[in-house]
Amino acid sequence: MGLTPPDVSIVLPAHNEAANVAPMVAALKAVLAPLGRAEIIFVDDGSSDGTLVALRAASAADPAVRYVSFTRNFGHQAALRAGLRSANGRAIVVMDADFEHPPELIPELIAQWQAGAKIVATRRSDDEAMVSAMKRLTSRLYYRLLDSIGDVRIAPGSADYMLLDRTVVDVVNGIDDQDIFLRGLVRWLGFPLVTVPFSRGTRRQGASKYSLRRMVELAITGIAAHSVRPLRFAVWLALAFAALGGLLVVYSIVSFLFVQHTVAGWSSIMAAIALLGAAQLLVLGIIGEYVGRILRETRKRPSYIVAETDADRRLRSEGVDGIASSPSRVAGDWRRGQAANSEPVAAPTPDPSPQGGGE
Ligand code: UDP
Ligand code: MG
Repeated sequence: MGLTPPDVSIVLPAHNEAANVAPMVAALKAVLAPLGRAEIIFVDDGSSDGTLVALRAASAADPAVRYVSFTRNFGHQAALRAGLRSANGRAIVVMDADFEHPPELIPELIAQWQAGAKIVATRRSDDEAMVSAMKRLTSRLYYRLLDSIGDVRIAPGSADYMLLDRTVVDVVNGIDDQDIFLRGLVRWLGFPLVTVPFSRGTRRQGASKYSLRRMVELAITGIAAHSVRPLRFAVWLALAFAALGGLLVVYSIVSFLFVQHTVAGWSSIMAAIALLGAAQLLVLGIIGEYVGRILRETRKRPSYIVAETDADRRLRSEGVDGIASSPSRVAGDWRRGQAANSEPVAAPTPDPSPQGGGE
């Protein structure tokens, strides 16, 4: 790659996708060949299989293949961030590394971009058996909820498969939010958006890393990142339970004075305690979600740490052995990771000077 930036960057988060790397590179190269200069950036999100080894090999074989490797697993959204920050293209496509986002769709995304869209989103057409009925239903309900309480409208079936113009990526890179929900964030920005439908491919190798727990976490991130309404909901709920408690007090007084039915009083108090206890726990839980986020934001911790990139591999393979293994080199890697959190990584040409003074 020379000094001119590539036209298209493909960003692929990869967590334990070793067996998908080579086929994905091949598929992408075939699709990208007619589209001008392209770079393919994998973000190895703390894989424990041979993903990093596969990426080193792929990038050694082809300078258009680049990678960023995290020290540990920081999650899909953090990997997307890192990829967007190191992408140099004028158009940036983000997609999964497991073939569920078909590479064949890329020319269509590019065509829409060339026709003027700043964001080309995709939409999974769910009318196939590929996606379980449960996932379809929960996803639909979730986007409807987000639509009614949040500040973004996300069409059901939206995926983190999209093309972003350089302008959009620059804005996203400048946003310091600790927790991002990329598909919500890009819509919130308000740039002209076009949606292209696709039917989901099948994961070729490995298993899905989105357990129920992670899905729930992503869902909560999406809501907390785009709405403060749950906080207000907590207030309404508290008022409702206070009213209910008031009614129960009136009931107890009436029953004590006129009915003398003490057993009923005891059970209503128990009911009140249980209901109020539940309400308080719920409210505390909701507040906790936001407070936890405030804490994380104020800490300003990087959302990921980079251990190695293709530039490091290239430096090493250029045979400066002393540099490759010296401890200061390791420290340099770490600093570069820090800087990469606040600034896009410069062109993939080896540059021994620290990449900006980030923090
Ligand atoms: N992924 C990641 N970090 C994670 C989990 C997943 O980078 O902690 C990547 C994964 O390698 C894949 C994409 O994010 O390229 C989507 O993940 P997955 O296929 O597991 O999710 P699903 O398609 O089942 O929603
Ligand atoms: Mg997948």
